[in-house]
Amino acid sequence: MFSLKGKTAIITGANTGLGQAMCVALSKAGANIVGVARREMDDTEKLVKQNGTEFYPVIADLGTTEPIERIIKDAVNRFGRIDILVNNAGIIRREDAIDYSENDWDDVVNINLKTLYFLSQAAAKQFVKQKSGGKIINIASMLSYQGGIRVPAYTASKHAVMGATKAMANEWAKYNINVNAIAPGYMATNNTEQLRNDTKRYNEILERIPAGRWGEPSDIGGTVVFLASSAADYIHGFTIAVDGGWLSR
Ligand code: NAP
Repeated sequence: MFSLKGKTAIITGANTGLGQAMCVALSKAGANIVGVARREMDDTEKLVKQNGTEFYPVIADLGTTEPIERIIKDAVNRFGRIDILVNNAGIIRREDAIDYSENDWDDVVNINLKTLYFLSQAAAKQFVKQKSGGKIINIASMLSYQGGIRVPAYTASKHAVMGATKAMANEWAKYNINVNAIAPGYMATNNTEQLRNDTKRYNEILERIPAGRWGEPSDIGGTVVFLASSAADYIHGFTIAVDGGWLSR
């Protein structure tokens, strides 16, 4: 029920952090991986191949929608089909809301939301052509539920990721396409480096996590495999929090 043997998964932001951990988890379940990033993904490739599946890197800057067609085409050329898309690439820019710049707003919203949507649309068109459904998994955030501090564009984009997930799920369920999301809690990656370097904020966050620890990238692996597998065939438009209990407080 959880096997992904023979499936092809595209994961964006595959070079590091949660994206790399999800490549590893999906390959461990049997999937071949198409990694998308703007830099080399040698470490991820090595980890995936250790699990006995294939890794195909596609270098692309997801700050615009320009590379989308090429990503789908290259993946299909390499593996013959695609079955899973994980929209993980995302950025955060911190600044007081009163001073937040239009440039930062556009950069954050373009990658976190616009590219996520249009890459999903392109994958969905390929799934429809293949006539055997597909899985789209979007990476949301605790700031899909809460406002945050000094990250207004990130919060707006991640609330929208949850909304777009539901909207896509509603229209594409009839094609056996499942669109769901994962909302990670506070995980130790580049994304949270600034927060973790601020000892006061680090400890404040830690004290609020019922699990008593920050998350590790590998904590998200089981959930992405579950949502990518046939075990989740009847789950549509839902966001699963992997947050050590943060939202329950
Ligand atoms: P990360 O280590 O900063 O990873 C972000 C990934 O996105 C990197 O691979 C990065 O590539 C890629 N990326 C950024 N801009 C890109 C662009 N223009 N084109 C292509 N790729 C681009 O942080 P992470 O924590 O693993 O983040 C992964 C996702 O999880 C993000 O959507 C983030 O918002 C979300 N998230 C993280 C946490 C957390 O606590 N860490 C919590 C909730 C949600 P580069 O290395 O080239 O920059």
